Amino acid sequence: MIIQLEQNISPTVKEKILSSINTIGYKTTEVKTQKGIYLVCIGKNEFDIRLIGSLNGVQDVHRVSDSYKLVSRKWKVNATEIDLGDGVLIGENNFSIMAGPCSIESEEQVEKVVKHLVENNIKVMRGGVFKPRSSPYAFRGMGIDGLKMFNRICRANGIKIITEVMQVSQIAEMIDYVDVFQVGARNSQNFNLLDELGRVDKPVLIKRGMSGTIDELLQSAEYIFSNGNEKLMLCERGIRSYETAYRNTFDINAIPILKEKTHLPVIADPSHGIGIREHVPMIALAAMMAGADGVIYEVHEKPEEAASDGAQTLNFDESKQLVGRLNANYSLNLV
Ligand code: PEP
Ligand code: MN
Repeated sequence: MIIQLEQNISPTVKEKILSSINTIGYKTTEVKTQKGIYLVCIGKNEFDIRLIGSLNGVQDVHRVSDSYKLVSRKWKVNATEIDLGDGVLIGENNFSIMAGPCSIESEEQVEKVVKHLVENNIKVMRGGVFKPRSSPYAFRGMGIDGLKMFNRICRANGIKIITEVMQVSQIAEMIDYVDVFQVGARNSQNFNLLDELGRVDKPVLIKRGMSGTIDELLQSAEYIFSNGNEKLMLCERGIRSYETAYRNTFDINAIPILKEKTHLPVIADPSHGIGIREHVPMIALAAMMAGADGVIYEVHEKPEEAASDGAQTLNFDESKQLVGRLNANYSLNLV
């Protein structure tokens, strides 16, 4: 059960509600986010929900049978919209395009990509400065100085930044330079990281783990929300299967299922999803048709020279063409 409390509730009124919940034998977690105060109540006993609904200080009360609560659609019918400022909104009312290189490599590279984004009206740039790599000898990113440079160029051009945070200690040094924290597939169940990201006021995009179920992704998002941050979005980026003909198995099914289960925006990552440059646009379009609220893909001036993930990275022409196709098809998806 989720109880939404009135914003300016007094401690005494809240105490009364807590003691009523206690009486029915439910365990309560209080969650205060940027937008509201919630009591998440877990228990099995039967009770008349009207008794809670009629209490002073209660704005609304909902039964939520899912294992995740606050991210569930069961209590929040309206989709969540994430506001990145300056009119950049991510959610059901538009289709967001986020693009950029796998890794931030140099000032010149960022400038070229930013120019490409501006020309194509793309408002959010991705790019990793802390890179999770399978091999310790591979390029692991430019680190915090790279982020500062990335930020400087993006700010000067009205572009928002999404970049991966890999560990708790990076949050504080990164926070002033990012617009969205990305939690990578490998950290999808790093619960300490998720807890900490719940304590900051900055949007988070959380990717599905390589072997993560949809339920596990939603529960990971619940970690962040239940710690107080409801500026969240989810990302399908493909899962590991027995298939070896492509990098990952992009789970198109996850998109409508997630949209049904949660009120959070659902973003598709076709680049990691298939891992093959020439097929990335088709997967992006398929994701849009499946109901995704946006895509995040990799683009580089010279993908063959990219420091990471070049094989799945579009060049500027391919990216421009994809933007054109996404825009042209957007209206089709609204019928
Ligand atoms: C990335 O976005 O470059 C990345 C490492 O993605 P993932 O965590 O999905 O593998
Ligand atoms: Mn990548």
